[in-house]
Amino acid sequence: MDSMKSGWFSELNDLWPGVALSLEVEEILHSERSQYQDILVVKTKSHGKALMLDGVIQCTENDEWSYHEMISYLSLCSHPKPQHVLIVGGGDGGAAREVSKHPDVERVTLVDIDDRVIEVCKQYLPRLSLGLNNPKVNVSVGDGFEFLRHHRGEFDVIITDSSDPVGPAENLFKQSYYELLKAALKPGGIIASQAGTAWMNLDQVHSTFQHCKAQTNLAEPVRVFSDEDLERMSIKYYNDKVHRAAFVLPRFVDKALRGA
Ligand code: SAM
Repeated sequence: MDSMKSGWFSELNDLWPGVALSLEVEEILHSERSQYQDILVVKTKSHGKALMLDGVIQCTENDEWSYHEMISYLSLCSHPKPQHVLIVGGGDGGAAREVSKHPDVERVTLVDIDDRVIEVCKQYLPRLSLGLNNPKVNVSVGDGFEFLRHHRGEFDVIITDSSDPVGPAENLFKQSYYELLKAALKPGGIIASQAGTAWMNLDQVHSTFQHCKAQTNLAEPVRVFSDEDLERMSIKYYNDKVHRAAFVLPRFVDKALRGA
């Protein structure tokens, strides 16, 4: 399928049959096939630069912060002292940037399978990749699934900031991956995962929910940042009210997750 037509990139793929988000493109900045996936960076007319992997939009400069703040702070602020954090995927650096801002976090280990994503983001998306230069962050290149096989009881929080369940990320959506995540956590540890969208992938959201039913009530943050904290940390989307609201689900999602 031709995802570039008449100056527009369209997200044409089987994950969302019959529908495609499109971005008008000013310039193609980079395009390559790495060992694992197609990597494309474009300058868009409306959303700054955008990163696509295997034809799927991963992030755009103008709104990436909403996703990266939420995937980071919902879990971090549900933990009383998140000192050691693992990020699986996240080679763009956006999640590492946010996680490192949390004052209790001492060490961030990031494992991404594709060093080319890391390098391309360093070149074209420095606002995100600056997260990888933080002294708290240690980057390694490898498969997150394999990495977890060798790490037990080490992490307070594990964030899976992966691409979608096709290609290299396929294993990161399986029950066996969630068993490895559980084993890699310290007692009381918390995981957060990218799990698709309820509008287009309700089955995927449902199966992820089945893999990791909450043991405790995570809707009430145990760490609340003041407005001054949020300003100082340049947090634009997340606060404690947004945290609580994130656990309020529309009826159709709630029913699907409960299997009703
Ligand atoms: N923010 C994004 C989104 O909205 O979906 C995800 C971003 S991040 C770029 C996804 C990363 O996951 C990619 O860099 C990709 O290389 C990495 N990845 C995919 N499969 C992986 C695996 N098995 N182990 C580690 N990293 C993986």
